[in-house]
Amino acid sequence: MICDNLTVRDGILQFGGKNTLELAERYGTPLYVMDEDKIRANCRTYRTALADAFGPEAMPLYAGKAASFTKLIRIIKEEGLGLDVVSGGEIATALRAGFPMEHAYFHSNNKTDADIEYAIENGIGYFVADNREEVDAVNAIAARFGIRQKILLRLTPGIDPHTYAAVATGKVDSKFGSAIETGQAEDMVRHALSLANVDLAGFHCHVGSQVFDSDVFLRASEIMLGFIAQMRDRFGYTARILDLGGGYGVRYVESDPVIDIPANVALVGAFVKETCRALSIPLPAIRMEPGRSIVADAGLTLYTVGTVKRIPGYKNYVSVDGGMTDNPRFALYGSSYTVMNAGKMDQINDFSCSVVGRCCESGDIIQENVSLPSSVCRGDILAVATTGAYNYSMASNYNRIPRPPVLLISAEKNSETVAVRRETFRDVIALDED
Ligand SMILES: *Cc1c(COP(=O)(O)O)cnc(C)c1O
Repeated sequence: MICDNLTVRDGILQFGGKNTLELAERYGTPLYVMDEDKIRANCRTYRTALADAFGPEAMPLYAGKAASFTKLIRIIKEEGLGLDVVSGGEIATALRAGFPMEHAYFHSNNKTDADIEYAIENGIGYFVADNREEVDAVNAIAARFGIRQKILLRLTPGIDPHTYAAVATGKVDSKFGSAIETGQAEDMVRHALSLANVDLAGFHCHVGSQVFDSDVFLRASEIMLGFIAQMRDRFGYTARILDLGGGYGVRYVESDPVIDIPANVALVGAFVKETCRALSIPLPAIRMEPGRSIVADAGLTLYTVGTVKRIPGYKNYVSVDGGMTDNPRFALYGSSYTVMNAGKMDQINDFSCSVVGRCCESGDIIQENVSLPSSVCRGDILAVATTGAYNYSMASNYNRIPRPPVLLISAEKNSETVAVRRETFRDVIALDED
């Protein structure tokens, strides 16, 4: 199975120990299901791996953009991870979850003045400043509040992680961060050190997402540690924190490799410590920012099949009651997914088709070249695996389609909890003025 929390019993797909047909029956479709036990296990894997590799000062930060809702952020808090936020809305979610804001890091390449004020008012731990202009904006607003705001500087180490272009972010020409190569990073350090209301805590980089090659993190940390040593030599400034970003890949299809996170992090740990020794710099407190690899395999989406269209000599379509509104990732990046007929797991998958959504858009495709049993018909339940990251968080109301609910399940607690309720037509029209 593509994820280890998926099993089959009597021909029926089970997720996190629950019968998926029964979940679809009880809660309706489309339905996002999230396995709380899996989320917690992934959090613990990172916490232990970072502590083992870098010592007790290290902390994984969950990248909330992968999926953000109150009950999820509460789990992140209980598991002792820090949190990346990228907008006022994500800050509001963290506040509602009672998240300790001193462990929250505010990202984004363009924070408005209102965003900065809102974050400072609510005691954000760190700004991850993208560029010099933003350092000035934070400094000015922090001055008005009469505080010295901790910041990290987001730098681009100039690395191509060989992932999709849309999620590669560490190159010099990226819209994110300031480049080491062009001298802009050094200029930003000099400037930040001269300001009274920012406290430069260290540096950040994020080279990309869905990364399987551990060499990427080694190369990034080598460049970042080199930069830290250079800044010490130039300005007598020693960074206290080094944030290496997120990006470890997950398995969407059988051909995707399995990543051993503890082994990978251990490799980075050994390399970072050795490089620090070689450069005679103290080991900074390390941050990593996993998003996808915390929640992706904890998610499964269930749909009900509607029309099955056979176009003889051409192709076949299986339409479901959701689509790009709940999962836009195929439309955005051509992402791969594993699709299963949840109630017919013991039948042979001998029918090739495209699984498509219900939106008025030809690109509204969940997945192409899917193999399902040829008996697939109206009323069957389809399951799409590994949908916990960048699905609910990217959902829209295109075609005025209400968004599905998020159901949290736990075998350990023997619980099923609606974490986000299903939107209604009333919700869809709620903001319209008469
Ligand atoms: C998106 C992002 C992450 C998380 O990336 P994943 O691929 O989901 O692990 C971490 N840090 C930053 C700055 C990001 O933009």
